Amino acid sequence: MIAENIRDVERRIVQACERSGRNPEEITLVAVSKTKPVEKLEEAYAAGKRVFGENKVQELVDKYEVMPKDIKWQMIGHLQRNKVKYIIDKVDLIHSVDSIRLVETIDREAAKKGIIANILLEVNMAKEESKFGLMPEEVMDFIDEVVRYQNVRVQGLMTIAPFVDDPESNRKHFANLHKLLVDIRKKKVNNVTMNVLSMGMTNDFEVAIEEGATMVRVGTAIFGERNYVQ
Ligand SMILES: *Cc1c(COP(=O)(O)O)cnc(C)c1O
Repeated sequence: MIAENIRDVERRIVQACERSGRNPEEITLVAVSKTKPVEKLEEAYAAGKRVFGENKVQELVDKYEVMPKDIKWQMIGHLQRNKVKYIIDKVDLIHSVDSIRLVETIDREAAKKGIIANILLEVNMAKEESKFGLMPEEVMDFIDEVVRYQNVRVQGLMTIAPFVDDPESNRKHFANLHKLLVDIRKKKVNNVTMNVLSMGMTNDFEVAIEEGATMVRVGTAIFGERNYVQ
């Protein structure tokens, strides 16, 4: 069941790439496993998935402990500074950075472990009051500040688009985030690579790919509906 769902999402990724003249190898499918029991993750693992997304620190750590070690864990949820130390050496990428104080904590904890932390900056493209993330117009200045932190690498940008019935209405947000990524890349800032564009979820990942996403975060289409909303 889960294996079939993964193949189906992968097929849709390839089709979205064909429509937009992109190479499917540029796209990483993050299997968003939040709220799902380990057995479901094991099924996805057996089907070949090695990239999993979680949005709660405790849940990520619990699953990290019992799942195989070649998984690339993605922290996709809002991260509190006092919890950074629990995941800093367990995650491949933190998608949801939106304050300098958080960058400072990530930098300090990464330095303690002698590692470089890979992060994305979360941008609130639709300027929804209920959402975390930097305002689009703040991102450039933020980038200039982030370069001071030696144990942090900004790999790109992330957004959570509004929950809408018609994915087409998110196209403009995806296109604008892509444009922002390209503008930042042109500045050629140290410690900032801007190769990752994390956008698109179950409802809108195809539109996101057509607009330049390199990472799509898909939960429901792989694991089914969640029992409660997080
Ligand atoms: C839950 C979640 C997803 C996956 O959402 P689906 O609609 O189930 O695909 C993606 N990104 C973030 C940040 C999430 O919290």
